[in-house]
Amino acid sequence: MVANRTAAITFGPRHMIICVGGNKPVHNATVAWSALNTPCVKISRCMNCKSPDRICNTWIITEKSCPKHRIRVILINQD
Ligand code: SF4
Repeated sequence: MVANRTAAITFGPRHMIICVGGNKPVHNATVAWSALNTPCVKISRCMNCKSPDRICNTWIITEKSCPKHRIRVILINQD
């Protein structure tokens, strides 16, 4: 909500390890967003809401680690 995690991912420590529980990965962003209780999930249009589930305050999509190997992802076989 306040970008404390996204800030570190985009311009933070020299090395970063992201630990991801087995319940987190989904096939695409649309599936991820569908778990939220927001107007856009229900009507496919932004209503500039004040929902507590609102994620569009600050969010990022990381396509690739730069520099190489800065970000490492550990998938954990538990929720
Ligand atoms: S403000 Fe964000 S969460 Fe709310 S409806 Fe618009 S896109 Fe969805």
